[in-house]
Amino acid sequence: MEERDFDIIVIGCGCAGAIAAYVAAKKGKSVLVVERGDFAGAKNMTGGRLYAHSLRSVLDAYSDGEIDWGSIPFERKITHERIAFMDIASAMTVDFTSEELGREYCDSYSVLRGTFDQWLAKTAEEAGCEVICGIAVEALLRDDSGCVYGIRAGEDEITAQVVILSEGANSLLTERCLGAPRPKPSQMAVGIKEVFELPASTIEDRFLCAPDEGAAMLVVGDCTHGYTGGGFLYTNKDSISLGLVATIEHLQEADTTIYQMMDDFKKHPAVAPIIRDAAMVEHSGHMVSEGGYDMVPEYVHDGCLVAGDAAMLCMNLGYQVRGMDLAISSGRFAAEAACAAIDAGDVSASGLAAYRTAMEESFVIQDLKTYRRWPQTMDKWTRMFTEYPTMVREAMNAVFVVDGEPGIPLRKRLWPIAKKRGVFKLIKEVGGALRAL
Ligand SMILES: Cc1cc2nc3c(=O)[nH]c(=O)nc-3n(C[C@H](O)[C@H](O)[C@H](O)COP(=O)(O)OP(=O)(O)OC[C@H]3O[C@@H](n4cnc5c(N)ncnc54)[C@H](O)[C@@H]3O)c2cc1C
Repeated sequence: MEERDFDIIVIGCGCAGAIAAYVAAKKGKSVLVVERGDFAGAKNMTGGRLYAHSLRSVLDAYSDGEIDWGSIPFERKITHERIAFMDIASAMTVDFTSEELGREYCDSYSVLRGTFDQWLAKTAEEAGCEVICGIAVEALLRDDSGCVYGIRAGEDEITAQVVILSEGANSLLTERCLGAPRPKPSQMAVGIKEVFELPASTIEDRFLCAPDEGAAMLVVGDCTHGYTGGGFLYTNKDSISLGLVATIEHLQEADTTIYQMMDDFKKHPAVAPIIRDAAMVEHSGHMVSEGGYDMVPEYVHDGCLVAGDAAMLCMNLGYQVRGMDLAISSGRFAAEAACAAIDAGDVSASGLAAYRTAMEESFVIQDLKTYRRWPQTMDKWTRMFTEYPTMVREAMNAVFVVDGEPGIPLRKRLWPIAKKRGVFKLIKEVGGALRAL
């Protein structure tokens, strides 16, 4: 193989890129990471909760016990799962807690990406990578046969045997240089998030959590003014991340903006008491892919692999949002395949095909395939965001309100609530959703 400046260049130092770089360095390769933010995490945003299994398995395989799990800058271990149906002035919230949620490999943690990504970058550097921040890669270098052999950033051209592209959801290089299709407005969503500071003890009181433990909450209904999308809330050590996600297609049609939705969300009676007396210290926005398996582009190319959100590896199931665990595992698989291909002296797409095999044999592609029909089901299920939260309010009022009038049997109170929405239609919709999950 021809002489190159580095064995591997990684574009982007998010979850996928930093882990790819870490694994490749641990395997003895020379690695350059180029990150456009002034520091890793400067431009990144997540809800967010990291399902820990993928990070645990990377560290179990590569860290030789050097990294103490307790030293990772997680915010809180999530031990309470909340799901809320919200209409304009009511909310029904399910709060689930169990021992299993906290068990090793089933555990999950809230994270703030500014801190977490800097830890990932430092870990990659300590493994031997070079991380350069504040530089945006503008193009991939390709030889006459089309094989990628490096990057261009400003006036610099830097070469490598393999380039791992992990530039996130706004994947311009993947589109421009690798021919990935531009996602449709129905497949992409905008996420906005605000972070509110509160003392740790107040958070623990408001969420009935032990110190260092916390809650994740996903909300459906009026938080997006009835448009497809949802709200989220994660407890951090001494702050709360609160935000909304709404598809670009529906935002284009909406008679309101996502900022107005956010303002109303914060004033909702189920949310306002949670952030009472809290100071907003951060505001951010980011794209998120919502299309599932059907929008995953070709991710193995001659001399180049695509990982994480750049390959659209993200899932929003309504009760789970996952992207970081997929990013971490795809970054690992990309690095392992790249290292093996370099060692074998064949970095063509067929030499790098082990990446596809690892992805397809793992939860990454298998989960995306399992829930393949969910994005379309959710997109068409408009009543889920309008009628259902109202129906839930009516049903819960029928169950809980006592007004001194002589009682009517519960089934007689609930039946008309379902009937006016069409019982067969309800059964069909719920059945369809369950088949897609
Ligand atoms: C509102 C919202 C809520 C979410 N909630 C969750 C959640 O709770 N749990 C979960 O698991 N996932 C969640 N996700 C998804 C998750 O954030 C992503 O799946 C994850 O960040 C993907 O990691 P990545 O490394 O692929 O991309 P990113 O984290 O986006 O990293 C890409 C990196 O590439 C850099 N970059 C981009 N272009 C260039 C360039 N040209 N040159 C150099 N560097 C470049 C960026 O600055 C960035 O650092 C959420 C996403 C959003 C938007």
